[in-house]
This record gives sequence, C-alpha cells and structure tokens, in this order.
Amino acid sequence: MKLSVQQWIRPEIAALQAYHVADASGMVKLDAMENPFPLPPALQDELGARLGRVAINRYPDPAGAGLKPRLKAAFGIPDAAEVLLGNGSDELITLITQTLARPGAKLLALEPSFVMYRMNAILSGMDYVGVPLNADFSLNLAATLDAIAVQQPAVVFLSYPNNPTGNRYPRAAVEAIIAAAPGLVVVDEAYQAFADDSWMAQAGTVPNLLVLRTVSKVGLAGIRLGYAAGHPAWLAEIDKVRPPYNINVLTQEAAHFALDHLPLFDEQARILRAERTRLAAALAALPQMTVFASEANFITCRLPGALAVFEALKADKILIKKLDGAHPLLQDCLRLTVGSPQENDALLAALYDILS
Ligand code: PMP
Repeated sequence: MKLSVQQWIRPEIAALQAYHVADASGMVKLDAMENPFPLPPALQDELGARLGRVAINRYPDPAGAGLKPRLKAAFGIPDAAEVLLGNGSDELITLITQTLARPGAKLLALEPSFVMYRMNAILSGMDYVGVPLNADFSLNLAATLDAIAVQQPAVVFLSYPNNPTGNRYPRAAVEAIIAAAPGLVVVDEAYQAFADDSWMAQAGTVPNLLVLRTVSKVGLAGIRLGYAAGHPAWLAEIDKVRPPYNINVLTQEAAHFALDHLPLFDEQARILRAERTRLAAALAALPQMTVFASEANFITCRLPGALAVFEALKADKILIKKLDGAHPLLQDCLRLTVGSPQENDALLAALYDILS
C-alpha cells in the first residue's frame, strides 16, 4: 500500500518545523534556561521516598486542587484570582489559544518573542499578528497600540521579561496595552524569579489580565508544571479545554516537595542573579561584544561572526543558543543561559580563547 500522509495533513501543520531541541549529551548545557543546580543528595533521598509512596495506581487529583492553595500562598496569588495548572506553561498557552480560536480570531505577540505563541496560534487555527520590537529590543508602544486597534486581537501575549531578548518592558507600556486590548492579555512571567517586577498582584482584579508562570526556570524543568492566575470568568472557560488529570501524580507530589523546600530554590535564584551580573560585566569586556540588559536567567548578546563563535563553543563542549536566523532583529545574536559559577567560568574562558 502506498503511504500518502501529506494529503491528510492540515497544510499549516505540514508547513511547520517541529520544535527543535539540540542534543546536549556531554556538553555544558547553557541553551535552555534551566537551573544548573542538582538537588542535594539528602533531598534526592527525601523526594525518592515521597514519590515511592504516591498511589500511582490511581488517577491524580483531577485539577491539582490540593496544590493550588499552596501555590497561591507561596507565590502571592491574590484571593480574587482563580488558578489553572498546566503540564508546563506550554500546555497553558495551548489551552488558551484553543479556547479563543473562534473563526477569524487573532493572536498578537511582539517579535522576537517566545516562538510557541506563534506556533500555538497556527496549531489552533488562529491568525497570528507579530509586532516587531525596536532594534534595541525595546517595545514599540505606538506600533503595538496601532496593531491592537486595527487587528482587535482575541489575545495578546507579552513575555515579561522577554525571551529571547532578556529585557522587561516598562510597566506603563504594559498597562497601556492591557487598557487598549479588547480581549485577553497574557503576561507570561516565566522568568519572574530573576526579574524586578510582576503583574501577579493584579491577577483576578484586572478583568482581562492573565498571569502565566512556570517552575521550569527555578530548578524544576523536569516535572513540567506551569500555572495561570486570572479572573475566574476567563479561567472557567479555559478549564473546559484542559484534559482531565493533566498534572500527573508524580509531578503533584514533587511540587509539594518543592514547596516544602522553597528557601533552597530562592537561594539558587539569588546566586543566579549575582552570576548574571558577573557574567554580563565579563562579556561586555570582550572585543566587539554588545550585551543586552537582562532580567532573566540568560543573557542575549551580539557579536560579529556569532555563528562561528557558536560552533567554536560547541567544539569546546559548551552548548548555547544561536538566535541569528530566528528573526531579522536577532542578527549576530547569541543567548547564554546563566549557569553555575563553574559553568560560567568555563564559558568565559572559552570565549576569551575564541575571541583573542
Ligand atoms: N514562556 C516563556 C517565555 C518561555 O521562555 C518558556 C520556555 N522556554 C515557556 C513559557 C515554557 O515553559 P514551560 O513549558 O517549561 O513551563
């Protein structure tokens, strides 16, 4: 039988590239904004024992109801806000777009930003509208407000701070966008642990605001847990799209465990912020290097011949992210995840070697 896949595939899916994850075996891994610190052995044992006692023969708590009050208390989620859990914040982005994908509905995002906003718009059948940032990655508020007025998007996604550029937009600009948007505004705070501002205090009271968070950047990328906080009227609708039992029992128990040990993760975030300052200063001292200000656990920089530098680092067993080619504004740009002090030293030594 002749295999004819393409005739059945949605053309917009056939035209997509799958989300690419580079092979990092044996490498210093500075490409994916993970927390570099493994769990201390005593906590590994405690987690192992706790996971061993979980009833894996039973379905999980269907919506993670036991976890929500603890997340609310730990992360300052207001009483007025409802919370929804996702298998990573990636799943929440998918659920939001599926909920809002009425025929002709538009998703507006700034560019360059997190690629999954556009990807999910396409997957769910929404029209995608990208508004370019300025060349220095600052927000072009006039162009954004114009686009909102003309396009009337069902949802606006703002990464705050922005991946892959690292900067955070002025609060007043976000306020203006929320005021102008006819539909939902998702403020994606994936990097909040490393930032100086948050919209969480407004979740639940600003009617069209939804704040998205993840535990992935603070040491728990492997458990896949994200949460959204916002007005109950929006979340009740999005919850209808959520697959039942989307947070598995092991993830729920691991999240309870992490909440029992929050000071450890807070301390790691503090170390990474200090390392970010150190790394940025050392990078800025390299010849022909432009370092962009970051409130995230990565630093985006620009230097001539960035692709050759990327390859040379790879040959030195250091994996970073090449941004050049992903968007015209990212020409000659690289993104470096802030690692442990030792990893950052290795990165800087390799860069000095390559560039001298
Ligand atoms: N939002 C932003 C801005 C991100 O950069 C990422 C991860 N790269 C995510 C969401 C998804 O994170 P996760 O699915 O691990 O929660």
